[in-house]
Amino acid sequence: MYRCNIVPRPNQIQPKEGIFAIPREGRIEDFVTRTIDTRISGAESYRLNVCPEGITISAGTPRGLFYAMQSVRQLIATSVGQIPCMCICDEPTYPYRAFMIDCARHFFSVADLKKMIDAAALFKMNVFHWHLTDDQGWRIEIKEHPRLTKISSVRASSDFGGIHADGPYEGIYTQGQLREIVDYCAERYIEVVPEFDMPGHTSAVLAAYPAFSCTGGPFYVQTKQGIFQDILCAGKEETFHFLFDVLEEMLSIFPSRYIHIGGDEAPKVRWKACLDCQARMKAEGLPDEQALQGYFMNRVISWLRARGRTAVVWNESLRGGNLDPSAVVQMWMDKNGECAHWANGGGKVIVSDFYHYYCDYPYAMTPLWKTYRYRPALKDVRPIYQKNILGVEAPVWTEYIETLAHMSEMCYPRFAAVAEAGWTREERRNAGSFERRFQMVTPLLAALGIHPAAPQLWNPHSFARLKGTAQFFLPKLPFIIRN
Ligand SMILES: [Zn+2]
Repeated sequence: MYRCNIVPRPNQIQPKEGIFAIPREGRIEDFVTRTIDTRISGAESYRLNVCPEGITISAGTPRGLFYAMQSVRQLIATSVGQIPCMCICDEPTYPYRAFMIDCARHFFSVADLKKMIDAAALFKMNVFHWHLTDDQGWRIEIKEHPRLTKISSVRASSDFGGIHADGPYEGIYTQGQLREIVDYCAERYIEVVPEFDMPGHTSAVLAAYPAFSCTGGPFYVQTKQGIFQDILCAGKEETFHFLFDVLEEMLSIFPSRYIHIGGDEAPKVRWKACLDCQARMKAEGLPDEQALQGYFMNRVISWLRARGRTAVVWNESLRGGNLDPSAVVQMWMDKNGECAHWANGGGKVIVSDFYHYYCDYPYAMTPLWKTYRYRPALKDVRPIYQKNILGVEAPVWTEYIETLAHMSEMCYPRFAAVAEAGWTREERRNAGSFERRFQMVTPLLAALGIHPAAPQLWNPHSFARLKGTAQFFLPKLPFIIRN
């Protein structure tokens, strides 16, 4: 029996009589006819016809044709000599299908990022969320504030659990390199959403500009992982002037509809003790420091909105109860159902659940089946508001990941599983089918320089899960759980 090996699985496949014999020579382009057909609605929809004479693809937009071509490449790569005739009619379930790479904890070269981008494009992902700033490093060249480049991009050493390295670690993307990635993604219909994480996760910024803190410092670029108490001061006007300066330059580099401004893991210890922050709360009538964070984010959200951009924030920014409704909320750790409440009230949500979609954790903790079976349609969101769930995102944080080879294993096949959750309708999704199809298309990934985890590692049995999880969390005590 012929099986159609495409990831993500197309939403409608109609088998037809006959076969198409794949020419032994020549390029794919020679036997694939492309047509723009404006009767096909949906910017991402496409049709793919395999007939005895050849393959025809059509779409209403060049983007649709690009996705059709990704399907053709997979069909050809997974067929031996011939393809049964069929008609595929396909379009995505969700408009936002993202992957995130943290380049702050460890720096990845432009060449390595291009490989990850090519891989994501193969699975019709359309957003690259680029985490460029954090406590352990700042990676965006900002000409107006050169200390970000000189001071914030360098940490004195690295101490992330299993990774100990003496000596400085540094990395910065020049504006030319940032634009190069934006252009590379645009050619693959991927939008780059850059993140400047604020007001927390800003040790690297404060190391260069301590005046924007509550206490005045001094500070240093963090060498360990964690959540740090020193964050940007919400009371000082100069903080906002600085932020808008930096964002202004970022907007000139990144043309994206969305700009991610973080808003996660920001302890309120310093704000509670800061005269400026307390004065701000009083002046604005804010009941507590969570609401002060809402105020902080809202100023940046409305500044961005005035420039035609939409802000994305991590879900902690909902806690003040006063978040600007135009912001998109990224759900990662939401124990109180705040994101469902937000969506039911008309707010937009991106789903990247920590326990299912975070790809920096070992397969022992987050096996492939767990990632695959997760349903992005949050159950507490009422049916008429499900449309407020924009889509899915698979993040990879890099405290423990230093190389592309390691990243490839952690992200694949899990990134592809999340891509399928974003594209394929729930009733057409099946974990066993996904695993089989993914293995068939693996040679296409390998050709890009991306080598997924071996299939025997995807779904470890219970004991292996316990052991693997323990080994991950106790890197300094390996002798306890040695083989
Ligand atoms: Zn303050």
